[in-house]
Amino acid sequence: MKILVINAGSSSLKYQLMDSVTHDVLAKGLCERIGIDGRLTHKVPAKDIKKEFEISMPTHAEAIQSVLDALVSPEHGVIASVKEIDAVGHRVVHGGESFAQSVLITDDVMKAIEDCIPLAPLHNPANITGIKACQKVMGNVPMVAVFDTAFHQTMPEKAYLYALPYEYYENDKVRRYGFHGTSHRYVSARCADMLGKPIDQLKIITCHLGNGSSIAAVDHGKSVETSMGFTPLAGLPMGTRSGDLDAGILQYLMNKYGWSIDECLNVLNKKSGVLGISGVSSDFRDIESAAKEGNHRAEVALECFQYNVKKLIGAYAAAMGGVDAIVFTAGVGENDAKTRMAAASGLEFMGVKMDPDANNTRGKEAVISAPDSKVKVLLIPTDEELMIATDTAEIVGK
Ligand code: AMP
Repeated sequence: MKILVINAGSSSLKYQLMDSVTHDVLAKGLCERIGIDGRLTHKVPAKDIKKEFEISMPTHAEAIQSVLDALVSPEHGVIASVKEIDAVGHRVVHGGESFAQSVLITDDVMKAIEDCIPLAPLHNPANITGIKACQKVMGNVPMVAVFDTAFHQTMPEKAYLYALPYEYYENDKVRRYGFHGTSHRYVSARCADMLGKPIDQLKIITCHLGNGSSIAAVDHGKSVETSMGFTPLAGLPMGTRSGDLDAGILQYLMNKYGWSIDECLNVLNKKSGVLGISGVSSDFRDIESAAKEGNHRAEVALECFQYNVKKLIGAYAAAMGGVDAIVFTAGVGENDAKTRMAAASGLEFMGVKMDPDANNTRGKEAVISAPDSKVKVLLIPTDEELMIATDTAEIVGK
């Protein structure tokens, strides 16, 4: 089946046309500056084609139309007709407690996604706009929603409840949801494949370390704990996000500087994390260069990140009563051997023994622990688009 995977943001839209059987990426690209002017970058990997176009995109509908035009173009297209697209898979950030799995999009599903807007006010409206634009331009092609939160819906109550008055959970749905679920699901499944064991016999800790970072405990194939919470601000320190902190800090800083809550959250979301500590950049490559030159704040930013990853690996092993495998993925996890090594070293007491040579790998699947390591450590590039395409093909095929 040919599946179009769509990830719609407020002014951008990423797409991939995939063959769900061969897993080939036929074409992919990005629409940017939607609602401003409009730019399309379109790539055809098999032919090494990369094209850039300035196209008017007042709304997401024109953006989708420009994607379809590019896909059927005689010069740089990959299909003869839009009719060849069997289904569309949409990334949707928040499914709340309504969705524990991907679903075929119906009117009721759209209503439920709209009901989740208060939980993800920046993301869900953009995702909904993307779905509606596709429906407008593509008519009756079946569409599937794949949620970032769905995989973590298996967390037990003791893991997802915050210790707040219970009515805030009951009435207001304040609880831990977790994000990056599609990535955690994909890499934990690949991990089981690579180890040649059924996933329901494994305890896996998946570390999605990128600009946004989260860790999940995947026990017998089910997410039982994860570091992001009610929003993607929680857990590890990230590129620009603070991760967990004492809520009392908000009151202290707001009083001291006369900030509104929005100003305070802007600092927590955009000026914190490794950028905030280092003062250099949110990009680990820049911070590593600065640390090499003796910049102390850059050094401690990296140490702080690595320490928090290690701490959560220990905590999640405790939560599951053991661990068989640890997986590193996403921009930092896939490319940064030093961070992986620092996060996994010192865990020898629980059976983790890294292989420095094997760890010296970038961006491809590898076992990076020593052959005699009780706990296997793996590097697995994530592929959320493939997961979305696979779910979409499966649901539409039924
Ligand atoms: P992601 O959000 O998964 O796309 O990850 C993006 C982040 O990965 C960037 O901000 C970098 O910090 C990090 N990254 C990418 N390549 C490398 C590399 N070779 N070494 C260290 N960090 C990297």
